[in-house]
Amino acid sequence: MTAQRLARPLLGCIADDFTGATDLASTLVAQGMRTVVLPGEPRPGQSVPVADALVVALKSRSVPAGEAVAASLAALRWLQAAGCAQYFFKYCSTFDSTDQGNIGPVAEALLDALGATFTLACPAFPANGRSVYRGYLFVGDQLLSESGMRDHPLTPMTDPSLVRVLSRQIRGDAGLIGYEAVDRGAAAVCTEMQALQARGVRIAIADALDERHLRVLGEACADLALVTGGSGMAMGLPANFRARGWMPSPDSARLPPVEGFRAVVAGSCSVMTRTQVAAMSRWAPSWFVDPASLDDPDDAVARALAWALPKLSAGPVLLHSTAEPERVLEAQRLLGVDAGARIERVLAAIACGLVEAGVRRLVVAGGETSGAVVGALGIAALRIGPVIAPGVPWTAGEGDRPMWLALKSGNFGDADFFRTALEAAG
Ligand code: ADP
Repeated sequence: MTAQRLARPLLGCIADDFTGATDLASTLVAQGMRTVVLPGEPRPGQSVPVADALVVALKSRSVPAGEAVAASLAALRWLQAAGCAQYFFKYCSTFDSTDQGNIGPVAEALLDALGATFTLACPAFPANGRSVYRGYLFVGDQLLSESGMRDHPLTPMTDPSLVRVLSRQIRGDAGLIGYEAVDRGAAAVCTEMQALQARGVRIAIADALDERHLRVLGEACADLALVTGGSGMAMGLPANFRARGWMPSPDSARLPPVEGFRAVVAGSCSVMTRTQVAAMSRWAPSWFVDPASLDDPDDAVARALAWALPKLSAGPVLLHSTAEPERVLEAQRLLGVDAGARIERVLAAIACGLVEAGVRRLVVAGGETSGAVVGALGIAALRIGPVIAPGVPWTAGEGDRPMWLALKSGNFGDADFFRTALEAAG
């Protein structure tokens, strides 16, 4: 143990999408690591937040493989400059990819850049029903290829054998660390890893049926420069750092307190968000941002803010474009193919106006909407705090104007999520 080690991040993570990044970050916080998410590729020279784990959130899951590799290598260079001790490449627990990539090519490029020869790949996430047995990925009781993933618009998964899927994406064959070894423990997994490396295998799929298996795999990966997987695969890594005395065990989910107004901005039209918007409209003032009125976006923003700002001191307000499917279709007919992006820009500008007026605890509903809001607010780092509902933590945007943000994928949370979130924020 060295005092110097404590001042530097331990785990440098590269996630192939934003919600995957926050999911991974929440997992690490729950295991005692202070974790910060960096939305998008960090700028060279961008300051390094004080944290045990840093997670760079890329949008590299479905872009061409060359672009995904380039973005991942740039993220790695920044994390290396930050002085991380180990690296983690996070992808989806359904191994979303095509024969061209991007999981295999990115993992190989990261291995090469780190001068490493071997890594494991395991997307298992037992809490969500994703398990790997003999290299075959199950979603609940179904093989991956029989689950809804077979019809995914961008990455249809029609082969349930991850060894075959990965072998098509990389140079050479992918290996397998079978369930028997994982069940026996970390020493048995290490023996298998050495045998595979001796045969020239660079990446092996690892079986995992439950959380204990994931912790065993984490322990076995203590000395690997690079580990890859779903967020479950990261679960066992913090214990390695703790065993080395490198984690000071602070209250990892503590966020710096903020003072200010509270608001919700919703751009998701998913079933759960519609329920949540209806529920909040019954106890708080709410304003509908009508897509039909967006021919003058500046005017739409100004009108929404003129309505909202005088109300902020009395309690939380809700501004949303959330609508039923028929109205969404109507808006798409009216605004054309970029309807979604145009609405996102308006909601993001409204969020900026709210923050300008003193909102410091902001809930945003919708994955794309959240991305637009975080981008417009210019937030370069999000410290991950306490979990509000599975998959949704409060986060603190770091920078000149500290504020709390809860960024929610459309279908996450229960009917009363907005109230729960705002109450949890004090
Ligand atoms: P989710 O997490 O539910 O998928 P997103 O924010 O990712 O939510 O996606 C919702 C998309 O729908 C965004 O592009 C948003 O701008 C768009 N949208 C929001 N409200 C409407 C509406 N009333 N009509 C058409 N599109 C809308």
